[in-house]
Amino acid sequence: MSGYSKTLRGIKISSGIAIGKAVVLSHSAREVSRRIISPDEIQTEKDRFISAIKLITEQTDILISQMNQRELKKIGPHLNVQKMILSDLRFTEDVQHIISTDLVNCEAAVSKAFEKYSKLLHSKEKALLNARSVDIKAIEFLLLRVLSGKIRDISLLNEEHILITNDMTPAELYYYSKQKVTGIATEHGGRNSHTAIVARSLNIPAVTGIPNLTNIVNTMDNVIIDGLNGFLIHNPNQRQIQEYSEKKVSFCSFTERKPDGSEHIFVSKDNQRVFVYANIDFPEEVDTAISLGADGIGLLRTEFYFIERPRAPSEEEQFRSYDAIASRFYPREVTIRTLDIGGEKIPGFISPHKEENPALGLRAVRFCLKNKNLFLTQIKAILRASHRGNVRILIPMVSRIEEIEETLNIINEAKTILRQENKKFDPDIKTGIMLEIPSMIFILEDITGYVDFVSLGTNDLVQFIMAADRGNIELFDSASSLNPAIIRVLSLIFEKIQKTQKPVYVCGEMAAEEENIAVLLGIGYRRLSMSPANIPFFENFIRRLEIQKAASLVKEIISMKSEKEIKPAIERFLNENN
Ligand code: PEP
Ligand code: MG
Repeated sequence: MSGYSKTLRGIKISSGIAIGKAVVLSHSAREVSRRIISPDEIQTEKDRFISAIKLITEQTDILISQMNQRELKKIGPHLNVQKMILSDLRFTEDVQHIISTDLVNCEAAVSKAFEKYSKLLHSKEKALLNARSVDIKAIEFLLLRVLSGKIRDISLLNEEHILITNDMTPAELYYYSKQKVTGIATEHGGRNSHTAIVARSLNIPAVTGIPNLTNIVNTMDNVIIDGLNGFLIHNPNQRQIQEYSEKKVSFCSFTERKPDGSEHIFVSKDNQRVFVYANIDFPEEVDTAISLGADGIGLLRTEFYFIERPRAPSEEEQFRSYDAIASRFYPREVTIRTLDIGGEKIPGFISPHKEENPALGLRAVRFCLKNKNLFLTQIKAILRASHRGNVRILIPMVSRIEEIEETLNIINEAKTILRQENKKFDPDIKTGIMLEIPSMIFILEDITGYVDFVSLGTNDLVQFIMAADRGNIELFDSASSLNPAIIRVLSLIFEKIQKTQKPVYVCGEMAAEEENIAVLLGIGYRRLSMSPANIPFFENFIRRLEIQKAASLVKEIISMKSEKEIKPAIERFLNENN
């Protein structure tokens, strides 16, 4: 192992944890040579192109033939997208035409044709099979790699590895998953790419969007993929390896159980029931959440349906997706959060406007209230998915009562329209707000008449109270949830909400750490929502925890002045009580 531990931030595309040695495959297709050819080379170049397509298609067919029923259903279609793009006549004819008219080699022709082709796909309503630009780029690079003879063969790996690469197609990912690859990190990719969907279906922890990764990490370096938070830890230290190994063990042992859900009951050692819900970022996580026994979905983030899409999803499309999830979880509750875009999450169909402070800008409910049609469409879709009675609406980033009033008006308007359209919905659907902007703490008592529940978004709440960017790795200490200000504010919020008699949930990722869980449960919170990958860890922990004792711990630390005092006190408590 060489160098110091360094945490690199990317985009999480598939949760879970992988620890191991890196294998770096950095055949950047951008290095592929492009050259002018003479007329008598035209046929050779065309033949090279046809052979490359044939080779990829044959290999994809072999992979598909090796799939079991489940894989065929879940992963097969994503591999077929690749085949269909490569066999599209417009594309293959175009490449050959470019070779003979521009007199360029096959690689140059492929790049030019792909450029045209992806524009064409984006301009089409159906956006051919939902292929997105990252998918098309990955296929282009695969073709260029094959043409250059730089095939990424890792079949000789004899121990488990984490694959570090520039980009990847769904077929490559499927192939690697059969070759002792336990985690993946790439420089290029997207949350909604076909590759990301396949990673989630295969339960392979994966992170994408880490610039320059293949130059930073060397083969055989130690790495950890934290697919929960979207980090890659390069050269982890002993403490990080131990911490992540424990999380990984508890995650694996629980996920390998049969997906019946019934054996999971979240009860502490002193017999107190805690309700555990899932934070869902992608529809593919729903099965995992069910198999882990989640009491419901505490937070369905809907950004997935909007980001990296050429246009906003229709009401029907959203309804079908929300409804499928609500039906999978029925009768357990499913809390659907309205669109929380802005900050770093901007859909492609919205022209980006420059903001000095995007995290404090026109985002979430503020954005939706200024884009009423988009908002109304989403609310109608959520309402329609509520017809069984188990769906609830959650409004993010509320900072003023007026925003709640305006949103409730839109919900009422949506109900009126749905009645006129004869569409079913739950007329008594519950509506809640996310408490993640500090202003709301001071007017908590006043929201009683407006909402049915409150959900604490600790990720943002901590960021805004501490004025510390939650995504800035340098600010981990400033953004710590064990700061005395945070512990006291969490306790204050709990007291205030108790008085309103509204149910309160915590849906930030605080519950991923033992210290935080002890504090939250010790304060009194009993409904926690977390990434599915954290649920087994949580279950394991609360079975060993006496909540009564955690409550005494909170009484002790609440008056402490610094994290320096608080942390050791919690650590002592955990050592004595584990
Ligand atoms: C939060 O802020 O705690 C939260 C759950 O929302 P998000 O992480 O999506 O901002
Ligand atoms: Mg938030």
